[in-house]
Amino acid sequence: PPVYEQRYYFVKNLVNQHGHKKIADLGFGDATLLWMLKYHRCVQYLVGVDIAAKPFEWGGGRLSPGVGSYIIPRELDLTITLYRGSAVQKDSRLCGFDLITCIELIEHLDSEDLAKFPEVVFGYFSPGMVVISTPNSEFNPLFPASTFRDPDHRFEWNRKQFQMWALDVAKLYHYSVEFSGVGDPPAGAEHVGYCTQIGVFQKNRAKPTESSISEPEEHVYEVVSFLWEVYTTSY
Ligand code: SAM
Repeated sequence: PPVYEQRYYFVKNLVNQHGHKKIADLGFGDATLLWMLKYHRCVQYLVGVDIAAKPFEWGGGRLSPGVGSYIIPRELDLTITLYRGSAVQKDSRLCGFDLITCIELIEHLDSEDLAKFPEVVFGYFSPGMVVISTPNSEFNPLFPASTFRDPDHRFEWNRKQFQMWALDVAKLYHYSVEFSGVGDPPAGAEHVGYCTQIGVFQKNRAKPTESSISEPEEHVYEVVSFLWEVYTTSY
């Protein structure tokens, strides 16, 4: 499958392994990943945040109850909310999730936003797990035109740059991080690594969670879509 699909399947595998109930996708784009995740029986809350989130029909159309919902009846209700907002803005509705995914998002952040990102996502949202994917620039010479992969990218990091950033963030916010990726290099070019590099961050459970309960509610994101699917066992 193409590399973008491999990224979605990478997340699906993690959800299968860990049985996450509450998942948020930052920079959800055309909502394909959210759409793929809604068929996991363990999932009860799906949230998407995108700075360019479009109104209801757009993401909502494909996320509303589909044929699959009836073929594989759910045993639990599912709530899906799409917000327009930035991944570097704090909104208390994003706190306490099991998993937050940022698939091909960070390379779109300018240096000011990238500097705010860890405090918001790891410090404030503070989910059990964070998945971050970003291009591996070492793979770029294998592409015909060796520039950035997208004109909107502010940077593309090699493995060392990404890993140093990720390890610093993990240490600061008490997570551990493992590095992986998708998109195998062709035979003979194995040294460049994966096309997409991925960091999987897991919150350290050892230390008692300092409560964010005392934090005031902050609602900054604008709801662009809300869906609530109630499932009965009577199909
Ligand atoms: N995650 C999707 C995927 O893998 O198909 C989309 C990736 S697309 C390359 C990057 C997305 O991030 C775009 O939808 C863009 O609107 C969104 N984005 C850019 N800056 C953002 C920000 N500060 N906060 C939230 N979303 C942002």
